[in-house]
Amino acid sequence: MRDEVPLIVVFIGPPGSGKSTQAELLSRQCRIPHLEMGEILRDWATQDTPLGRQIKSYVDRGLLVPESMVRQLVEQRLRSPEFRRGFVIDGFPRNLAQARMLDEMLAEAYQKVDAAVLFDAPERIVLERLSGRRLCPRCGASYHLKYAPPVHDEVCDRCGEKLRQRVDDRPEVIRSRLRVFAQETAPLIEYYRAQGILHRIDASRGAEQIYADLKSEMSCG
Ligand code: AMP
Repeated sequence: MRDEVPLIVVFIGPPGSGKSTQAELLSRQCRIPHLEMGEILRDWATQDTPLGRQIKSYVDRGLLVPESMVRQLVEQRLRSPEFRRGFVIDGFPRNLAQARMLDEMLAEAYQKVDAAVLFDAPERIVLERLSGRRLCPRCGASYHLKYAPPVHDEVCDRCGEKLRQRVDDRPEVIRSRLRVFAQETAPLIEYYRAQGILHRIDASRGAEQIYADLKSEMSCG
């Protein structure tokens, strides 16, 4: 158990490692905002504007959205007053350039990353999680065809809408996302390890067990 309070926490891990679920839980417990980069970009990608269409073309192929667009979006969020007490951010940084960008942005406000949590899960497990994932486009409920199936085939239990698969959860795009993780994001493990702030969590298990480990590593008072 850490004595000091980690206020600024970054989550890294392959797609399907459960980062967002865990970030949401930690954010609620520590009463700090959760910034989910993938969700912000997916929202933008639904907008029929030149920027929205550009972002969509990267997200749909499982490629990283270019630096300049991401910087603007992160900067906007981090400047908002609710982020002053700290935050948990998942999906950012995703490469060394973004990690340095985040450090610079924080340094301007005399802040720094307190902890980086790596959600470690083998490819076999993340592939199974992502390929079975289904979402309700109306109410946002999330299902898994094997582990959390809806009562009626591919229909939302809550609102009856037909469930959808995220475009980037298709097998060929999953492969591209995993490649991006291995090539671009994995070097962050050493970046944060060298700073002595890396926490490694076995993310191959169920969400409750993962959160139990996370809580024993992070203390928010
Ligand atoms: P995620 O839901 O975190 O898997 O993110 C979905 C997609 O959003 C990724 O495959 C990228 O196309 C894009 N994305 C998310 N975070 C970033 C980031 N930090 N930099 C660039 N692109 C990102």
